[in-house]
Amino acid sequence: MRIDLHTHSTASDGTDSPAELVANAAAAGLDVVAITDHDGFGGWDEAAAALPAGLTLVRGIEISAAADEVGRSVDLHLLGYLPDPAYPPLVAELAEVRDSRVHRARRIVAAMVADGHPLSWESVRARAQGAVGRPHIASELVDLGLVPTVSDAFTDAWIGPHGRYYLSERKVPVLRAISLLRDAGGVPVFAHPGASKRGTTVSDETVATMAAAGLVGLEVDHPDHDEATRTALRGLAADLGLVVTGSSDYHGSRKPTLLGTNTTADPAYEAVVAAATGVLPLSA
Ligand SMILES: [Zn+2]
Ligand SMILES: [Zn+2]
Repeated sequence: MRIDLHTHSTASDGTDSPAELVANAAAAGLDVVAITDHDGFGGWDEAAAALPAGLTLVRGIEISAAADEVGRSVDLHLLGYLPDPAYPPLVAELAEVRDSRVHRARRIVAAMVADGHPLSWESVRARAQGAVGRPHIASELVDLGLVPTVSDAFTDAWIGPHGRYYLSERKVPVLRAISLLRDAGGVPVFAHPGASKRGTTVSDETVATMAAAGLVGLEVDHPDHDEATRTALRGLAADLGLVVTGSSDYHGSRKPTLLGTNTTADPAYEAVVAAATGVLPLSA
């Protein structure tokens, strides 16, 4: 089977609606696709309602988390597959993350306006169907001609990690995110653990701590990982008894990566499904 376990829709920062996402997944020849929008379940129902025959939908999420290491906190993303979306402690935690992100985006726009840039919060807000985030601000900057491309917004002059207008956001402590997902019957998998271009990556010791806390898998085959990184992560997964997954981390036209660029092997997918007690994969 062709299995892609990490994609985004307009329910977070993708450009395909959830219905377009499943249609495109079928057209790309996938047998299984997971919808994993950031910090919410907003795309699930539309994707399920639009599911084409022959495609299986894995309902998931990608949680913005942070790990405490000696002397520093490292941001990371945690995929969660098939959790019960109504589990109250998880719902409450995600609502806080989204609220803080909207609040942060508002403060970033206000700082740009104070510097004389012609943005408006209403216009940035209107770009998002889910929570407003930095990608929506970046698109606004492009359309206003303030930067040539979205990538140029994620720099020191604007909203890159060391940028003039960067503000940190609330992250869920990763061990809490793992236990919330497990308690909701979901299956936590560490997203792009070796994506060093996105910032600092966590140590192997932290991954071991996550495994002991209930992490089920590592997303080894990801577009941001080179061959050496994949080899090292495969070794780490074997040492810790973790399932190895693969995905495109598709964002529609926002990023060049196509659906199915990287995939998950059948036994790994079956292990993920077997570990879930929240909701079931869906097929039309
Ligand atoms: Zn991610
Ligand atoms: Zn992602």
